[in-house]
Amino acid sequence: MSDKYQGFASSSIGKFLVKNLGLPNPTPLERYADGDPLVQGTVLVGGTGRLAESLPGILDLIGVASTADPAAGQAEPVKGIVIDATGLTDSAALVALRDFFTPVLRGLAPCARVVVLGTPPELTSGPERVAQRALEGFTRSLGKEIGRGGTVQLVYVAVGQEAAATSTLAFLLSPKSAYVSGQVVRIGAHGPATHTNVEDWTRPLDGKVALVTGASRGIGEAIARVLHRDGATVVGLDVPQAASELQSLMKELDGDWLTLDITGKDAPQRIAHHLKEKHGGVDVVVHNAGITRDRKLANMAADDRGDRWTSVLDVNLGAPERITRELLAQGLVHDGGSIVGVASIAGIAGNVGQTNYAASKAGVIGLVDSLADELTEGITINAVAPGFIITQMTDAVPFATREVGQRLNAMAQGGLPVDVAETIAWYANPASSGVNGNVVRVCGQMMLGA
Ligand code: NAD
Repeated sequence: MSDKYQGFASSSIGKFLVKNLGLPNPTPLERYADGDPLVQGTVLVGGTGRLAESLPGILDLIGVASTADPAAGQAEPVKGIVIDATGLTDSAALVALRDFFTPVLRGLAPCARVVVLGTPPELTSGPERVAQRALEGFTRSLGKEIGRGGTVQLVYVAVGQEAAATSTLAFLLSPKSAYVSGQVVRIGAHGPATHTNVEDWTRPLDGKVALVTGASRGIGEAIARVLHRDGATVVGLDVPQAASELQSLMKELDGDWLTLDITGKDAPQRIAHHLKEKHGGVDVVVHNAGITRDRKLANMAADDRGDRWTSVLDVNLGAPERITRELLAQGLVHDGGSIVGVASIAGIAGNVGQTNYAASKAGVIGLVDSLADELTEGITINAVAPGFIITQMTDAVPFATREVGQRLNAMAQGGLPVDVAETIAWYANPASSGVNGNVVRVCGQMMLGA
């Protein structure tokens, strides 16, 4: 699992060629290591609106140093910016973005994080709705301009849900969101948060049980590791053929395991029985298991080897739907629990040869949409949509395709499984109870799709 181009670009001959031929020059991304402070530096806060006054206090709660001095970056580069744009109530007021950002952008450290806070446009009206919607184009463009491993996000916070933004700021300002950029997050848009704080921000999942499907390798393994780091007891699930890898990982993480095919007729009942008997229920459910069986639709006959259409739809969409409904019907998802689907940018943008896969992954987004307003007791449902994530699977992709896949994003590189896992850990944090009904792409702001 490697990015050979990135290694080449940082060699001395590589640097010369990159500069003179105008080739992509990926910045090595900073990633979070256990025990690190969330932000290694100061965050500049600014703007006017509902959140401006409380921002320094919110950042202080998660141990992040902040300043309101716009000249701070001249002395030492700042590591992040949070601007409250909820006070921009008509389009003429948008110029405040230019006035605030233009003088401070050159004072940003590498891998800096920018977060713009707004009000969900659909919860406003008239000129305010226009101005708040405009923030989306601004943040997505700044995400493509910022460079040097920086990221830019827009967080829409519903009125009265200001305190529910803490876990999201902790994630988006830290290296945990290394490969997430150009994203729009909504907080409290599907109802008020039930929890806004956790006792220990380094172990928010202490005492919680997390089911992770497809946990024996790749992205699933990274999810299991990160949820364990955050304090959860992980129940890893995978097919019987992966039993030995799964068991050794779960032993290492002091977790539990379950081997079955999630498409099996009795799989939802077996999973429910296991979680009920051995753990008294579950707090976090991550539907990560997934497969691809690529073929153009014209060649995807029903009697094709293994039936590519049915198998992909059943593993990626049918099984997560059935398992989710069974766990909910039996009341096994604890209050304040979190359900997470793993979609894909293919499900948003579409991809040649992937009508089956993209349908299944867009369906995962549909599952989020359909359940976000239905769930009660503070249970949330969200999805991640990974872009090009370097795994054993993508190592098998032909070189040229892999190169294009990796470079076509604002970071000019592929992501790592841990980038997806950290995003899921943010959703799973009990203090993220206002984060419901979201689909966040973990794609380095890929040029494909929105
Ligand atoms: P992977 O193939 O390495 O891992 C998938 C895991 O799911 C495997 O352990 C496999 O045994 C398990 N699994 C498959 N079918 C199962 C079944 N019927 N029952 C139980 N377990 C089953 O894949 P990955 O790259 O780690 O991908 C994980 C998820 O992320 C998938 O849903 C995939 O579609 C999605 N995704 C990956 C990428 C990427 O670039 N790698 C991009 C977008 C989305």
